[in-house]
Amino acid sequence: MTAVSAGFERIDDERCVYFRSSRLHGLGVKHLFSTRISSRGGVRTNFDMGFSGGAAADTVLQARRIACDFLAADFSGLTVARQVHSGRAVVVESGDVGRGARSARDAILDADGMVTDVPGASLLILTADCLPVLIYDPAGRIGAFHAGWRGALAGIAQNTIDLMVNRFGSDRDNLVAVLGPAIQRCCFQVGRDVAERFMAASSGCGQGVVHSDNGRSFVDLPGFVKCELIAQGMARENIMDIGLCTSCLPELFYSYRRDGRLVGSMGAMIALGK
Ligand SMILES: [Zn+2]
Repeated sequence: MTAVSAGFERIDDERCVYFRSSRLHGLGVKHLFSTRISSRGGVRTNFDMGFSGGAAADTVLQARRIACDFLAADFSGLTVARQVHSGRAVVVESGDVGRGARSARDAILDADGMVTDVPGASLLILTADCLPVLIYDPAGRIGAFHAGWRGALAGIAQNTIDLMVNRFGSDRDNLVAVLGPAIQRCCFQVGRDVAERFMAASSGCGQGVVHSDNGRSFVDLPGFVKCELIAQGMARENIMDIGLCTSCLPELFYSYRRDGRLVGSMGAMIALGK
């Protein structure tokens, strides 16, 4: 049994194992972080939420429907972007809702952050080491972003928050952010060039997140993103981090780096009520 971080719950549902934030759940926000574990009739199989791994499209669709069912969220509201490790965040308008749910072909193009105020919409972020972040504005908006090192350095955290503020008038003080499972400092070794780029980040957040060990450099990616969110005006107490390492926990999570290829993807999902 994996130890679960304070402020999070592990749910062993009949069909999948999920994590959720107690804080968001307490606020009535539908959301989940999926694992790779699907359980059918006591037999464990893979639960792959993305079309880019090894699973057949039908299997992925089924996993997405199961996740929507678990949240009592309409499948028709599920919205997915084609993630490209960028700093680009986009507004999901009513006409965009549902894009990318059934096929990667009609996904919202080339964006790593999404924000929306459309009732019934849900945002799905796919990861297998990168950091998924879900954002809730109690005034009735949601956001979600995908941050690997490239996207983090390209400002995806800042850009997603800015978009919520500029487009919806969200109050930074009231935003709640939840960081899901990702590769942690223990396993996230980077080259000198990447370490130097973190150290040089204009937010100053890279200073404390690069750690050296026998000439090797490790980056605390969630730590960097948390610092950036605070630099964007969010309150520290409104940022929750599950702190589980995708690379260290092969039973629970896919890990691109550990597996050496994309075997499958976890989903991080947040939905707006109707
Ligand atoms: Zn690790």
